[in-house]
Amino acid sequence: MPAPAAPRSGLSADVIVVGAGPGGSATATYLARHGVDVLLLEKARFPRDKVCGDGLTPRATRELISLGVDTSGWQRTRGLRFLGRGRELVLDWPQTDTFPDYGLVRTRAQLDEVLVRHAVRSGARLVEGTTVTGPLRDDTGRVVGVLARSADEDREDGRLVAHRAKVVVACDGVSSRLATNAGRPRRSDRVMGVAVRAYYRTPRVEDYLVSYLELWRDDNAGRRHLMPGYGWLFPLGDGRVNAGLGILDTSRAFGHTDLKDVMRRWVDSLGDGWELAHDVAAGPIRGAALPMGLNRTPLYADGLLLVGDAAGMVNPFNGEGIDYALEAARVSAEVIVQAKARRTAADCDRVLHGYPRIMRDQLGGYFTLGRWFAHAVGNPQFMRVGARLALREGRMVHVLLKLMANLPQEHGGRADDRLVRALSALAPDA
Ligand SMILES: Cc1cc2nc3c(=O)[nH]c(=O)nc-3n(C[C@H](O)[C@H](O)[C@H](O)COP(=O)(O)OP(=O)(O)OC[C@H]3O[C@@H](n4cnc5c(N)ncnc54)[C@H](O)[C@@H]3O)c2cc1C
Repeated sequence: MPAPAAPRSGLSADVIVVGAGPGGSATATYLARHGVDVLLLEKARFPRDKVCGDGLTPRATRELISLGVDTSGWQRTRGLRFLGRGRELVLDWPQTDTFPDYGLVRTRAQLDEVLVRHAVRSGARLVEGTTVTGPLRDDTGRVVGVLARSADEDREDGRLVAHRAKVVVACDGVSSRLATNAGRPRRSDRVMGVAVRAYYRTPRVEDYLVSYLELWRDDNAGRRHLMPGYGWLFPLGDGRVNAGLGILDTSRAFGHTDLKDVMRRWVDSLGDGWELAHDVAAGPIRGAALPMGLNRTPLYADGLLLVGDAAGMVNPFNGEGIDYALEAARVSAEVIVQAKARRTAADCDRVLHGYPRIMRDQLGGYFTLGRWFAHAVGNPQFMRVGARLALREGRMVHVLLKLMANLPQEHGGRADDRLVRALSALAPDA
């Protein structure tokens, strides 16, 4: 067999960011604003869809504000409406100095396009239609760029293109081909979720994120059946909702359940004035995985940083991943800018090694609590008792909301803010 052709020489930059989801676009924005020459490589072309619930908590909203994104006119949410055990509990987002008291809902087609345009306006060079296949390494094994295939490539050539940079950031989502091919596979000791979603028209006007802790279906004989997983209805403010349901791999039903079928039955059985009608034009029911609790490590080694789903940064308590991708983007960019200002390569590398430490300080203990929680809710007995207790109005429920959505005031605050912070600080960072 002939040896594969040597890659063609491509572009060069200070930093290459791979993947223009929220994590990649935000990383590129922060870097470009600091005057860093940044190349943002994306396999798709915008606007493009991404399977997601489209829900943004106040924590994610704060990140969008920090990033300077104009969210006026977007659907705002006041809090969460939980349903289960025939009960309903409505909780407003907490009032703190740290986070706004509202969340947002925005389709990912819209959100991701806003974020990528923001990156370009800030000075990032975006190349769409470019699939990164793996790292480019020097003789020492350090990552000094990426190998990529362009969708526009002239087919007779078929050679990979080598783009070069001093630092590379993998933001290419849950499957992260770049991280995998750089020798950082998924960790099997971390929780994985899987979820499906589609868009539906509804006459109901809603300004809470609605969450069904138990999914029930009536059969023809009038018997009620409990279905696996938990469901959501997130209002888009345009006469549609994003409806979906998810399940964790800690549940016995994981891997044996046709989630799309469960979804159809659940949607058909919904009362409460939803009258959901599938918005077929917006696409079929589609599913994807949620990588939780930092499932790819190390977050930095040999010139390559991991951000967002590429590092498995979804919160195991609630399935939220956009916020953590945005937070990691902010932190990684700050670290890269500081590293770039160091005189020697060794100094620069030492600063880059600070990124995993900062992220683990900020999220390690909290994600450990989340993993424990995910294992507990995998047990149906715990889920039944937990849902019953959680749906009782009381002080405890507000603490739970602050814990599960990670919304304690960052400094000072009330006793419940300090309690949530203390729990995260005490949990081991495994
Ligand atoms: C069904 C479902 C519902 C969810 N609901 C919510 C929710 O309501 N709220 C929330 O906060 N989170 C939710 N999440 C999680 C959330 O979608 C992710 O955590 C979030 O998208 C992570 O952002 P990211 O930038 O890291 O990765 P992504 O958004 O996945 O972006 C990765 C980007 O990289 C590109 N890419 C991939 N491979 C390559 C390659 N080889 N070369 C070049 N480019 C590449 C992709 O095209 C994409 O643009 C949900 C997830 C699922 C599956």
